[in-house]
Amino acid sequence: MRLAELGAKVLLAYDPLAPPSKSAVGESLPGAARPLLQALGLLPILKNGHRVAYGALSSWGEEALHTLDFILDKNGTGWHLDRPRFDADLRTAARERGASILDKRLLPPERRGSEWDFSDGIRSSFVIDASGRQSAIARGLGAKISLERELFALYCYVETGNTEETRTLMEAAPKGWWYTAPIPENRALVVFHTDRENCKRLLSVEKLWSEQLSETRYIGERLAGQAGRPELFCTEAGSRRLASFVGDAWLACGDAAMAFDPLSSQGLLNAIYTGMRAGEAIAGALQGASLDAYRDRLEKIWESYCRHLQQMYALEQRWPEETFWQSA
Ligand SMILES: Cc1cc2nc3c(=O)[nH]c(=O)nc-3n(C[C@H](O)[C@H](O)[C@H](O)COP(=O)(O)OP(=O)(O)OC[C@H]3O[C@@H](n4cnc5c(N)ncnc54)[C@H](O)[C@@H]3O)c2cc1C
Repeated sequence: MRLAELGAKVLLAYDPLAPPSKSAVGESLPGAARPLLQALGLLPILKNGHRVAYGALSSWGEEALHTLDFILDKNGTGWHLDRPRFDADLRTAARERGASILDKRLLPPERRGSEWDFSDGIRSSFVIDASGRQSAIARGLGAKISLERELFALYCYVETGNTEETRTLMEAAPKGWWYTAPIPENRALVVFHTDRENCKRLLSVEKLWSEQLSETRYIGERLAGQAGRPELFCTEAGSRRLASFVGDAWLACGDAAMAFDPLSSQGLLNAIYTGMRAGEAIAGALQGASLDAYRDRLEKIWESYCRHLQQMYALEQRWPEETFWQSA
């Protein structure tokens, strides 16, 4: 979108068949995204179909529940997104700024002279990989992924009669950490972040879900009255990054460049920020500038992310004997 705004001819491809459960978990967008969305002229799209997030509750490092009130944040309230609607509105905004939209899964292109050839007559001088955690294009071009820490997210959607509670709730537990947030249509997303082995056990032994839920205090209370184990989905959620964020006439942004542990709550913010910077970097490269400043900026973001994540996990010391927390 930013690149089209800057006058380049842009083709934006997305995979219409990507399973919604993989690309649309039901994320919260922090208020810190407001200045970015304002700069992009995108604030109006958040007025319809998304829920305002007024704050967060968390029990982390101790049993007590702490409240974070977003009204006191300088960026104000956040949003609980209807992610498919958000993505569709972003594509419309990109089209309005001159990008062409292609609803087709692309394969990594081949290099022909100074161009990328995606077959079907699609050629380009630059390519941005914004394909999410799989980094489909960059990996196809030979870029390596480094997995910093493995983490799995088991998630489900439950009906909630309660439309008043708009705060997210996060709680650490012996085998991982839980998170629940309201999403549109009186439903809530419930996510349990845990290790590979426990994830496998939870998927195969039905009673373990309620057993491990009963090890929580606040999440269990909020979900009281939900009978049985809901349908569970599983996705990889650990920290990973490309060894190199840029290459010869390509670069990556968003999760394709670096995917964050959901504990950071910064994934979407990072995708919007790096997407915007990626557009500017390529507009510069089309005038002969190098991509080094973009690469260096992302290296700094990664460094700061890793430092903060480590500090956050270090705050939780209640279960030193548990595998999950030993590797945290
Ligand atoms: C369990 C969990 C909870 C999370 N909660 C939050 C949260 O509360 N707040 C937050 O900010 N972040 C959260 N995140 C992180 C957030 O989901 C990601 O950071 C964000 O979706 C990244 O956006 P993206 O556009 O880079 O990638 P994606 O959202 O993965 O989008 C990738 C796009 O690329 C398309 N695509 C893929 N391959 C191809 C191809 N070959 N050809 C064409 N198109 C292709 C797909 O169709 C899709 O549209 C969470 C992540 C997980 C796993």
